[in-house]
Amino acid sequence: MENKQVPHGRPPRVLLFPFPDQGHVQPFLNLAEFLSLAGVHVTFLSTHFIHDRLLLHSNVQSHFETYTGFVWKTISDGLPDNYPRLGEKGFEFFKSLHVVTGKLLKDMLASGELGSDLSPSVTCIIADGVLAEFTNNIATELQIPIIFSQTSSACSLWASFSIPNLIENGELPIRGKEDMNKLVNGVPGMEGILRFRDLPSFCRVTDVRHPNLQGATRANQKCTQGQGLILNTFEELEEPILSHLRTHCSNIYPIGPTHTHLKLKLAKKEVSSPSSNSIFETDKNCITWLDSQPLKSVMYVSIGSVAIMTRDELVEFWYGLVNSRKRFLWVIRPDLYKEAEDGKNVPEELLEETKKRGYVVGWAPQEEVLEHPAVGGFLTHSGWNSTMESLVAGVPMICWPRQADQPVNSRYVSEVWKIGLDMNDVSDRKVVEKMVNDVMVERKEELVNAADEMRKLAIKSVSEGGSSYCNLNRLIDDIYKINEQPSIHAVGDH
Ligand code: UDP
Repeated sequence: MENKQVPHGRPPRVLLFPFPDQGHVQPFLNLAEFLSLAGVHVTFLSTHFIHDRLLLHSNVQSHFETYTGFVWKTISDGLPDNYPRLGEKGFEFFKSLHVVTGKLLKDMLASGELGSDLSPSVTCIIADGVLAEFTNNIATELQIPIIFSQTSSACSLWASFSIPNLIENGELPIRGKEDMNKLVNGVPGMEGILRFRDLPSFCRVTDVRHPNLQGATRANQKCTQGQGLILNTFEELEEPILSHLRTHCSNIYPIGPTHTHLKLKLAKKEVSSPSSNSIFETDKNCITWLDSQPLKSVMYVSIGSVAIMTRDELVEFWYGLVNSRKRFLWVIRPDLYKEAEDGKNVPEELLEETKKRGYVVGWAPQEEVLEHPAVGGFLTHSGWNSTMESLVAGVPMICWPRQADQPVNSRYVSEVWKIGLDMNDVSDRKVVEKMVNDVMVERKEELVNAADEMRKLAIKSVSEGGSSYCNLNRLIDDIYKINEQPSIHAVGDH
């Protein structure tokens, strides 16, 4: 992946536009670095809210300074700084992005302010698939080629893509609690695998006209209508489902696991590591704690950057971990649960027991944690980044999916790839204790062996000649080819 010759002297300029949260910005930063390494000029557009936090908690600014043509730009998400963007207010957040941010984006693209003197016009947009509905319209109107990047798995994307089928064949809306364990028929390729409880969370509505279900369905259909679709997965992991997706979107670039792929590319260039990429303050002391723990003895627990727990769930998890008598490292974000909820705090005995075998942080350097030899299991919410990070580290998972794509990921981890166990929505202390013991003792060998096989496949895919390696090269070639089209330099060119 070397810098390429550009016939008319201007390298491509790609606008990267992620959905504004940790789990989306992080893989987009990886993408930004892949492109920068290949000589592509990148404009990274994030909301003021995200950009401020990135500058505060990561080294992105100094790290990307070294790349010619790299430009940071920010845009408003239309909400005041202290507005709770996700959770209950998620729908308003999406609406604001579509209405306010969409209009601003169009103006910025049309005015040419997203380029630099070296490459004034955006020759291609890579937008988050979640934002496909309005970004696709803008790109079409301004005649700028657009490629989508989905930060979720192919299996969850395919399940979401099949929602119109499920509505048509009467499987949605889901009829009642008793149906949750029944198998779904209307997702081709997932017959015999997917239960109703495993469908993306926005399917859990009583009326199929629900705006969340409708919005997600529209975005998922639109994200296959660009010039290509980038996925943070690899062929060998999701081949059967990728084949189904390719019947609707012929040009797919599975280039993952992107964090490992990037590390290998940087190592070749003798750059020690990618930038840090967190919008939260990272507590690195847990690595020192892990250094003093025995090999594969620690259960790492985190439910990502967005999901929350009730206080009761937190206490059940805590008792389960403590009663398992295993060591644990737990990410309890300041906003993970409402401490003062119903006036009760965490029982003192749990805090005492934690001092003996546990370590709690507000935010961990997760990739480093999962690669640490002391970590033997991961109790996760099955976010796709976390799943890929665990998979590539060969760490078996206990899955407690919360929302969006997570239930589908959890099902594939436990039933298809067999590298973890599914908690089936239960948050009882006895279940937690049993699952921790299963992963760390009873079923350790079987799970570790399966996880290790998967890890090897993942590494092979991003190594020279591997599937993700070749798909990334193809993506870069295509971005250069788009740049060679004569009409491309018209919009916003000076
Ligand atoms: N993460 C982290 N430290 C933590 C918890 C999470 O660095 O303490 C990172 C994790 O490595 C992953 C991302 O945050 O890359 C979470 O993304 P994911 O898709 O797993 O879940 P989301 O937060 O989007 O629900």
